[in-house]
Amino acid sequence: MTTTASVFSLGPRLLRAEKNKTCQISGLSDKMEKAHFMGLKLFNTLSGRKEELVPVHPGEVRMYVCGVTVYDSCHVGHARSLLTFDVVYRYLQFLGYRVTFVRNFTDVDDKIIQRAKEQGTTANAIAGKFIAEFYRDAKALRLVSPSCEPKATEHIPEIIALIRRLEAKGIAYPVDGDVFFSVDKFPSYGKLSGRRLDELEAGARVEVDERKKSPLDFALWKAAKEGEPSWDSPWGAGRPGWHIECSAMSTKYLGQPFDIHAGGRDLIFPHHENEIAQSEAASELPFARYWIHNELLQINQQKMSKSLGNFYTIQEILERCDAAALRHYFLASHYRSPLDFSEQGLEEAARGVERIYETAARLSRQVPSPASTEPDPALLENFREEMSDDFNTPRALALVFEEVRALNRLLDQGKTAGLNARGEAFKIITGVLGLQGDPEAFFNNKKDRWLRQRGLSSEAIEASIQRRNQARRDKRWEEADHIRTELHDLGIILEDTPGGTVWKVK
Ligand SMILES: [Zn+2]
Repeated sequence: MTTTASVFSLGPRLLRAEKNKTCQISGLSDKMEKAHFMGLKLFNTLSGRKEELVPVHPGEVRMYVCGVTVYDSCHVGHARSLLTFDVVYRYLQFLGYRVTFVRNFTDVDDKIIQRAKEQGTTANAIAGKFIAEFYRDAKALRLVSPSCEPKATEHIPEIIALIRRLEAKGIAYPVDGDVFFSVDKFPSYGKLSGRRLDELEAGARVEVDERKKSPLDFALWKAAKEGEPSWDSPWGAGRPGWHIECSAMSTKYLGQPFDIHAGGRDLIFPHHENEIAQSEAASELPFARYWIHNELLQINQQKMSKSLGNFYTIQEILERCDAAALRHYFLASHYRSPLDFSEQGLEEAARGVERIYETAARLSRQVPSPASTEPDPALLENFREEMSDDFNTPRALALVFEEVRALNRLLDQGKTAGLNARGEAFKIITGVLGLQGDPEAFFNNKKDRWLRQRGLSSEAIEASIQRRNQARRDKRWEEADHIRTELHDLGIILEDTPGGTVWKVK
């Protein structure tokens, strides 16, 4: 087993060493190297293939990600999407792009209104509560803040202006205070999801609304009902439909066309299809150039949902594992691969993260970094190569662990020459993946979580260690050994260091 593992880990490394040597020998120019690595390829749902990212404005990427509807706590399925696009954001910055990243809040919607009714409060209060929760989760997941986080309710004038434009072109039509988008007026409807209009119409299982010209027509504006939040509009008091907010807010902040529109796979139809129809019909310009969608998270082969009761909130998961472990768990699968949530996978990820943090801690202890160390270019190049292939985080992580093994080997052998540069590069690539943090905080959190789960306290353990030390000073060896065994049975390992006795979890 060990032999196989080491052969596997050595293989790619040797190949790469060979390749780097070849590069040096043949004297590939810097320019060629850069051209090769700057070519980020991403899978575009719109074309159904991997394409090279060519931004509208050179050197700049404008990206919109559909955010959450704030009527409930976020679950781990949301975390997969959030972490996917967090790494995309970090990686685009790593490549040197100036990135404008917009992620919205849907803060008016049927579900929010329904929740408010159930709880005898206002939609505004529900939205406010879950936006605050979202920020707490985002912080716990260590997400990099977007450039802008617009809310639908703060963009009503822009939404109305967009609907009026569609109405003036005869693409939108009002009925009794509602306004619908006429799908028949947008011939390329279905181009993102790859569905044909006639098939969609035949299969439309939507609730039949006699007032609509086609069953596929969707609401841009909804007439106010008793007790619901509403705004004045040319069609009377009402509120926006869901899709129109993303068309209005993305183009307000990013222009049209912009580069990347992203979200979960479940949003392709109808949400993203409808966004394209609205924005392109209104402006006669392309909407977004690249569409990135993450595959959904399942639990026991089923979609995670409240009604099935297979639902973990982000907060519940983070009480059981470190945010970095959850991140590692998701990144170990490609974002376009289906993933079935598993406790075992999460535990393996936690062990992996521990190795990264242990290595980082060893490096900072044994190889004090001078103020300015140039990162090792070979490691960065290898990382770019993996990540520029449609954000291949599983392969990027494999590279990280190859480096963990190599760094530890060099540290074991006391070969610290050149380790500064490799350590710097290691810091950078783990940082892009969001797996870089304070090792001490990581291990302390791990201890705290472990203690909490067992109803133990660190004070009690410290007291046992003190008793053992006293027993040792008094040469009561049997008692000292007994205390050690007791702690060991609890899963605690003691280490006697020159600075005193420290404990860690087995
Ligand atoms: Zn959206």
